[in-house]
Amino acid sequence: MRGAILYGPRDVRFEERDAPTIIEPTDAVIRISATCVCGSDLWPYRGISPVAKPTPMGHEYCGIVEEVGSAVTSIKAGQFVIGSFFASDNTCPHCQAGYQTSCQHKEFISTAQAPMLRVPLADGTLVATPDVPSAHLIPSLLAVSDVLGTGWFAADAANVEPGMTVAVVGDGAVGLLGVLSAKQMGAERIIAMSGHESRQKLAREFGATDIVTERGDEGVARIKELTYGIGADAVLECVGTQKSMMQAIRSTRPGGSVGYVGVPHGVELNGEELFFTHVHLHGGPAPVRRFLPELINLVWNGKINPGQVFDLTLPLDQVAEGYRAMDERRAIKTLLRP
Ligand SMILES: [Zn+2]
Repeated sequence: MRGAILYGPRDVRFEERDAPTIIEPTDAVIRISATCVCGSDLWPYRGISPVAKPTPMGHEYCGIVEEVGSAVTSIKAGQFVIGSFFASDNTCPHCQAGYQTSCQHKEFISTAQAPMLRVPLADGTLVATPDVPSAHLIPSLLAVSDVLGTGWFAADAANVEPGMTVAVVGDGAVGLLGVLSAKQMGAERIIAMSGHESRQKLAREFGATDIVTERGDEGVARIKELTYGIGADAVLECVGTQKSMMQAIRSTRPGGSVGYVGVPHGVELNGEELFFTHVHLHGGPAPVRRFLPELINLVWNGKINPGQVFDLTLPLDQVAEGYRAMDERRAIKTLLRP
């Protein structure tokens, strides 16, 4: 089969590689219905996170189970399934506590931009939909696999509750779905920080009530202005830079919470400043598995449509253009169909 392989900065190729097979008895092999390019794929794509050797790419996926190993009991061939970017047993103490991305047996899924995918720990990792979905649901079900799950965790980690004022730093797919998540959790006012018109429009569709175009300290000042000098009750940090993290912390009211899900690149926090902010910080790699049943249900019943973040759909063999379009910010998120 052919799949995406990153060779170095801005060099993604669609090349022949081995088709996956069952290796462990707890594995499943799935036939991918749709996969996509993640904002975090752009870090190695841009050379900010170096790649030492040609590396298969992709960690967002949904599809039909082709085959399962002899020890798999709850997942069956023919089912439509969704999993997260970390395989997890869903039984260890960390999984039981809801932190499946810290599973004692976690394995990163990193070869999903391909027609077929091996998923370890299939029983713990994969969640089946009630039936094989109709085509129009597939983008939204794919979004559940990472971007929605991550935006949802940002809101969950920031303790969003009904009636709150929530600010979202970052207008990528995760930030936009953080807006949707905060709305679902009952936030009354949602301030999306974005300087891009098409993204502002989608943020409003997902539930944003206010848009702040300023960034950094000016963005913080604008949030303070909109909240009568108090700051937001909850702030979702969905970028991962020093600037975005400080913008999030400084936009939060004393006693409020920051949920941070942007993978940090060079972020350093000043202990003394943090001490005097009285802000709760909670984040990390989103334990998407915890939220899969609930989010699949919301999509299945037509309550949410997170698949709107995919504004470019390409056949998988044009994966290189999918990366380029996101790198140049011509696309919010690229969906790839094998
Ligand atoms: Zn576990």
